[in-house]
Amino acid sequence: MTLPTDAAYAASLDALDPLAAWRERFVVADSDLIYLDGNSLGRLPKAAAELAATLVNEQWGRDLIRGWNAGWWQAPERIGAKIARLIGAQPDEVIVADSTSVNLFKLAVAALRCQPGRSRILTDDLNFPSDLYILQGVVNLLGGRHRMEVIPSPDGVHGPEDALLGRLDEDVALVTLSHTAFKSGFVYDMAKVTAAAHAAGALTLWDLSHSVGAVPVDLNGAKADLAVGCTYKYLNGGPGAPAFLYVRRDLQEALGNPISGWWGQERPFAFDLTYRPATGMRRFLTGTMPVLSLALIEPGVDLLLAAGMEAVRAKSVAQTEYLIGLWEAVLAPLGFRLSSPRDPRRRGSHVSLGHDEGLRIDLALIHDMQVLPDFRAPDHIRLGVAPLYTSYTDLHTAVMRMAAVVQGRLYEKYTAAAPTVT
Ligand SMILES: *Cc1c(COP(=O)(O)O)cnc(C)c1O
Repeated sequence: MTLPTDAAYAASLDALDPLAAWRERFVVADSDLIYLDGNSLGRLPKAAAELAATLVNEQWGRDLIRGWNAGWWQAPERIGAKIARLIGAQPDEVIVADSTSVNLFKLAVAALRCQPGRSRILTDDLNFPSDLYILQGVVNLLGGRHRMEVIPSPDGVHGPEDALLGRLDEDVALVTLSHTAFKSGFVYDMAKVTAAAHAAGALTLWDLSHSVGAVPVDLNGAKADLAVGCTYKYLNGGPGAPAFLYVRRDLQEALGNPISGWWGQERPFAFDLTYRPATGMRRFLTGTMPVLSLALIEPGVDLLLAAGMEAVRAKSVAQTEYLIGLWEAVLAPLGFRLSSPRDPRRRGSHVSLGHDEGLRIDLALIHDMQVLPDFRAPDHIRLGVAPLYTSYTDLHTAVMRMAAVVQGRLYEKYTAAAPTVT
């Protein structure tokens, strides 16, 4: 059966969509703008906009320093406990802190220090570059005693799962991967990789940035050791909102925070001159949190918890399948290539399409067609599906506008010079 490519069919899917009403909970300032970049910066929840006003005017403006005892101090744990429910962790295994990159640094150093007899770190070339930069820095910091092996993907789309498992032995200290790859959207089998790493005595450190809020994650079920992730993508936490980190409960006391600051001290307000780590996840904090953007994470997390990850994932799979169906019928004949896994079990919540004119098409979509995807070199146009607010009509309209750009050669007026943020 071929997929109907008409707008009426998209509208009929929207009419049957059990999550359709959640779009109302977000600010949609321009209804003609098709936003497919929720995997990079999620939309603003209306509740977050309201909270921002309260935070600034009442909490900061009126309560002043009393705010610390009225919820600010506990916010990293309180919001961490809610994020834990989205990723199959216990409430006392997740805390919000710093950026994903900084959290990765803290946990990678901690993991290597507690595995002194082992020298190798395994990762892949689909990982987020910042993760590899951080790992390179960690290797240097620890005196060059470790070696990072970046296992290449067989096709630039799928993770090198078998090759990676084949490299495991008693010298591997740490396996660290993006659970969902940022370019292709490939999703690793977390339980399988973790079990193999554990059989070799290695620890695992997962980057959940492109999974949390979009892809089911069961850290406890997979017996995962460590994880980090971002809150401004599918959690809709706002630009630059702080990240989170997860440490399995039985590892928490064994691991130290290499950036040992006063927020991770056992009794910060004793102002003792000697550092003693707090018990539990609080030890992974460092300095004063950016309270305004920290607090604004909570409304987006609440929306996902209320909608339910199962329903979110079901819609995400249905929408990426629909998008791939439209690609096959409409865009493949125009030179677009599918650069994401076909198998929905192995695909996150975005679809990457390659095209020889990818960057110029992306620029024409943004500037002339009211479509906001994003672009990842060399040729990927990423179409992100955020099930709480992306409609089937959005996807249909975007595909038709992409087709129009190519058919009308509207990209020709752009040069292939990338803007600062793509
Ligand atoms: C977005 C993203 C990050 C972001 O890192 P920051 O330190 O918050 O800038 C990290 N890792 C992955 C896989 C990402 O997708």
